[in-house]
Formats: sequence, C-alpha cells, structure tokens
Amino acid sequence: HGEIDFKEDAQFARHLEKEEVVSDFAKSKTLAQQRQYLPIFSVRDVLMQVIRENQVVVVVGETGSGKTTQLTQYLHEEGYTRNGVVGCTQPRRVAAMSVAKRVSKEMETKLGDTVGYAIRFEDVTGPNTVIKYMTDGVLLRETLKDRDLDRYSVIVMDEAHERSISTDVLFGILKKVVARRRDFKLIVTSATLNAEKFSSFFGSAQVFTIPGRTFPVQITYSKTPSEDYVEAAVKQAMKIHITSAPGDILIFLTGQDEIEAACYALSERMEQLASNTKQAVSQLLILPIYSQLPADLQAKIFQKAEDGVRKCVIATNIAETSLTVDGIFYVIDSGYAKMKVYNSRMGMDALQVFPVSRAAANQRAGRAGRTGPGTCYRLYTECAFENELLPSPVPEIQRTNLGNVVLLLKSLKVENLLDFDFMDPPPQENILNSMYQLWILGALDNVGNLTDLGWKMVEFPLDPPLAKMLLMGELLGCLEELLTIVSMLSVPSVFFRPKDRAEESDAAREELLVPESDHLTLLNIYQTWTARQFRGDWCNNHFLNLKGLLKAREVRSQLLDILKTLKIPIMSCGCNKDTVRKAVCSAYFQNAARLKGIREYENCRSGMPCHLHPSSALYASGLTREYVVYHEVILTTKEYMQCATIVEPHWLADLGPMFFSMKDTDTSLLARKKICKEEKTVMEEEMENFRKLPEEVERK
Ligand code: ADP
Ligand code: MG
Repeated sequence: HGEIDFKEDAQFARHLEKEEVVSDFAKSKTLAQQRQYLPIFSVRDVLMQVIRENQVVVVVGETGSGKTTQLTQYLHEEGYTRNGVVGCTQPRRVAAMSVAKRVSKEMETKLGDTVGYAIRFEDVTGPNTVIKYMTDGVLLRETLKDRDLDRYSVIVMDEAHERSISTDVLFGILKKVVARRRDFKLIVTSATLNAEKFSSFFGSAQVFTIPGRTFPVQITYSKTPSEDYVEAAVKQAMKIHITSAPGDILIFLTGQDEIEAACYALSERMEQLASNTKQAVSQLLILPIYSQLPADLQAKIFQKAEDGVRKCVIATNIAETSLTVDGIFYVIDSGYAKMKVYNSRMGMDALQVFPVSRAAANQRAGRAGRTGPGTCYRLYTECAFENELLPSPVPEIQRTNLGNVVLLLKSLKVENLLDFDFMDPPPQENILNSMYQLWILGALDNVGNLTDLGWKMVEFPLDPPLAKMLLMGELLGCLEELLTIVSMLSVPSVFFRPKDRAEESDAAREELLVPESDHLTLLNIYQTWTARQFRGDWCNNHFLNLKGLLKAREVRSQLLDILKTLKIPIMSCGCNKDTVRKAVCSAYFQNAARLKGIREYENCRSGMPCHLHPSSALYASGLTREYVVYHEVILTTKEYMQCATIVEPHWLADLGPMFFSMKDTDTSLLARKKICKEEKTVMEEEMENFRKLPEEVERK
C-alpha cells in the first residue's frame, strides 16, 4: 500500500464528489484537527512503539502523509527532547524554513524558540530549541565539531530518497554514531518504496510504512513531443481553468526564468479572456514557487484561495516531495528538471535541464491525488516516458564535484576515501578529479593530506575555491576586501533589471562599475552602500536588490566570526586594488581565459569558448586585455562568464604554476616552475597508486 493508483479509466472526478472534497478542506479546520486528519496520525502509537524498540527505523509514507511536520512533534510529545534535541534534516533550504514555520505554528510557539531552523548562513534557533530543522549540509558541518552529535537525541533524515550529496555522506557518518551511542535514535524517511536499500545499509533496519490515502490519478500524455513546454503548460492550464471542475492546478517547470515567464503569460491570457468574454470569468490565483523566491511570497502557496478562486501553483521540483500543497487536482508536468551535474568540459558543476526519472514523474502525478481523484497532464509522449526516462534519479554523489566532501572527510581523518562507507560509492574518477582540484588549490599536499591551508578552508561553509580566495586575502593583506567579495558571491545577484526600465537600470548600474573587474564592482557596490548607511532608497535608485545586500551583510558577519575564532587579522589593502585581483586569480586560475575575438575568450586549458556577459563591467567598459579569470560559466544561449576580472599573465604563471608558464628567462620563475613540476610528478605518482589518472590531469 501507499502506492499511487494510476487508473487510466476510472470514473472519477464526478463534479459533485470533487466539490464536496474541496469545500470540506476549505472550511478551514483548526490546526489541531488538521493534524489529526493526516495519515500518520492513525498509526502514531504503533510507530512510536517501533521507534522505542529499534535504534534505526526507516519510515516510508506517501508525500503529504505528515512525516516531516508530525514525526518531530510526536518525538517531542514522547519525551525524546528531555535530554537532547530532535533534529530533522532536509535536502532543501526552502523546505527547512517553511516546515519549521509550520510546526512552530502548530505548536503555538514563536519560530526560533521551541522550534527553529538552521540553513547555511542563517541560524534561527535559540537556547530553548528542541526541534531543529536544518539542511543536511548544516548537520554534516556540525559533525566536524561534534563527531558523536551529542546534542541530539534523535536525528530524522528526511527526504532520504532525494539522495543529496550531504545526505549520502551523512549516511556513512551516522552509521558510526549509531554504533557508538546506544542512546541515539536514527529515523530515515522516504517517500518512495525502495526503502529496502536504506534498511539494508543499516543492517536490516526496521521498515515502517504509513498506510497511504491516495486517490486515483488519470494520466494523459501529449500525442506529439512539445517544442515549448512552457507554452504548452500555459495552454493546458488555461484549458483546465475554463473547462474543468474546481480544484487547484500545479505546474512543474525547471527554474525561476521559466516560472516567471509562465506566470506572466498566464496573467496576460487571463486579462485577455476577461476583456473578450461578456460572462464573468472565475479568478485564477497565480503563485510561483522556487528556491530563490523571498520567503513571504513562498508562504503564499499554502494559503487557501477565496471561494470561487482557483489556485495555480507554478513550481520547480521543490513541490515534488519536499513541500505539499493541499487541494491540487490537476498536475501539469513538463517532464524536465534542473540538475547539478559535473561538466567535464567546463571543469565544474553546472545546473542543466534534464528529463526527470520515471519515479519523479510518478511523484509529480501523485500530487494530484491527495484530496480526491485527479488528473495529470504529461507534456511528453507515452513513448518518451516508457523509453527515454531513467527508472530513478542518479544520486547527486555520482554526478557532481566532490571537492567539499573530500575536504570534509579528510578533516574527519578518513584517510582513504575509497574506503568510506558510501551507500553508492562515487566513481573513482570523480574522487580523484576532486582531489586533484584540491591539490592545485593547495588544500592537499603531495600525498593527499590536508595542508595548513586545507585545514583552514574546512572551517568555512564555502566551496573550496571561494574559501581559498578568502584566505589568500590574508596572505596578500586584503582580507577586508575579499570578505566582502566572497559574501557578495555567496548570495543571488543583487542586480535588478525590470523589463520596462531596462535602460534606466543599465545606466544606474554603469555608475558603479569598476572597468577592469566584476569582483571589484561587487566590492564597490557594497562599500558605497555601506557609506550610504545601508540605505534602502539608495538601493532602489541604483536598481539593486536591498534584500540581497542585507543577506550579503549577514553572510559577511558570519564569515567574520569564523575568521575571528581562527584569530586571523583583518587587513585592508586600501587603494591598492591589484592585490584583490591577484587573490581572485590565485583561486580561480583554472578559470583563466584568453582573448579570442571581440568580447570572446576561450578557456586557457580546455579551449572552451566563453563570452563576456552584457552585464559585465568588462563588457560595458570595452576594456580588452588578453587574460581574464571568471567565477563560473553559465550556460544560456552561449557560455557566458559570470563575474570576470582582468589579470596579468605573469600572475597566472606565479599563482597557478602547474598550468601556466611564461616565455620568460626569469630564472627564479623557472626554478619555481621546476619545483612545481616535480611536485606534480610526485602527486601524479601518488594518485597513480589509486588508479589511472583522469584525462584532465595529464593535459598541461
Ligand atoms: P510529508 O513530509 O509526509 O510529505 P508533511 O508533514 O510535509 O508531509 O505535510 C503534512 C501536511 O502539512 C500537508 O497536508 C501539508 O499541506 C501541510 N503543510 C506542510 N507545511 C505547511 C505550511 N508551511 N503551511 C501550511 N501547511 C503545510
Ligand atoms: Mg516531507
């Protein structure tokens, strides 16, 4: 049981039946009543008994059955919080925040008091917090400080089926905690039925299934592959709204851009419809949800629409299992999602659009059958579903860069990463490649141990190159400046460019540009904002996102705290901004590019073309120099460099000697190069011990 029932031809959706269910829900029950209505409530006592009797329990239940919001509360009611915190991990930040908010409301306490959450750079917990929601990344970092997680009496590893990289590493670490601490409980929850794998990883742990309460979902496929699924989704939603019985709509697209485009198109068509028809058209409440959406707007998707208004939620795969919106009767599935995948050509992880797996598609469809029989419109053909989709998603650990994981595990004294207890070990090439990248950054020495720099880098919740860049600020005497730049790079872009005021906003941005560097531009913006007493009207006038800047300030103060605990003095380089560019260069020399044509560069190592983005300071200034380094490449219509800075060629030879040489007779430089080359040979031999090296390493 618990499986979605896909009845193609059930005679469901009888108008009356549906209206009944909808209004039943709309007559807002009290929160306590809502809690008792959840499927998990009916098995509460048995489940608590199973948990009492077993140290590790795998809990399987349909999405929306109450695992995330109820389990922690039950554990609290049963007394598990008397001598420790009940922690619950989420792969997504949005879910951690939103669920903590919901639970604090159900428990009638202020968020951050009994119930709190922690995500990277944001800790909303207090001394009273006994139920703590957090991202799996946050808990993973906590294991660095407290190997046995002594603060916690129970950890609920939620959404384990998502198989995020941090969850996968936590599996291995928590298995050891379970063995060492008899008083510790581990609960692993999954929305899918392949829980056997989790169970056997923990030595045949007890599996508990929450009986499902789902309704049949009728699946409709497109007859032909659709060329533009955003447009197809908008059309389908309008058709449902005009011709079908009440019930809310949920559309799955891949990201912010598509979601905004769909929202815009839908509201336009609703306006047209209203002006073209004499009869009153019932309202459509259009609600986007994606991870970068401000929290107050995110909360809106859960609110009940007024009578006679239909809700249309347009979401990324965040609504697949992490968040449950009640009252959905229609799902429109584009069949695609963005996934982070290591792109060997770019030499880094890139978010790219991929077809979803069959398991994910079925999860999406299931969203329509929670409150009554529903319909799912798949915007792809049945043939594509059967033949082109993978049965289940590839775990993140097998497809992304492992730099952070390697650093973390090394600092946990896992000597040989190939020995770590992974549920599904990452490909060896992946580990070796990540080790190699850490080595060129100077975080690992020639035999693969953490260097002093590496040990310091572990302290920062940043990707290795960013951490290195920050710490180079210490060496080069410009930490003050780097601190700001790293913080600005850790928040979403602060630039704001409304379609109808594009020129005006471009002009305002140009005032703040530093011609030779986007990094220095970010610094300039932050410094100017600081000089304006962090004022919001200044941001508005310059088309900058105040919330983004505030977030950067928050990140900055947290990084500053870490630097203080490490007793690293903060120095400023004053007007000598070249040192800042040097620090950027020292951490991003793998991303060095050479000028090829007008505003066109190519990566020095891989030859991948990369273009200046129109929003770049270098683009606007027209300044052309032979070499730049960039923060990352984003793939849209072309490969665009995101955040680029002009560098001197001899910096590349100095700071990234394993890649670059100068046709120069400078002996000291040559001597240094020779040493580096020798070191590289040693490292290569060392890695050879594991296996043949990745192709990348052999290329100079
Ligand atoms: P599961 O984890 O099993 O998928 P949840 O505990 O997340 O289930 O959800 C249980 C119920 O709580 C759902 O009906 C969902 O709609 C509701 N819920 C969860 N979060 C919120 C929220 N932020 N606002 C309103 N309702 C919510
Ligand atoms: Mg959940």
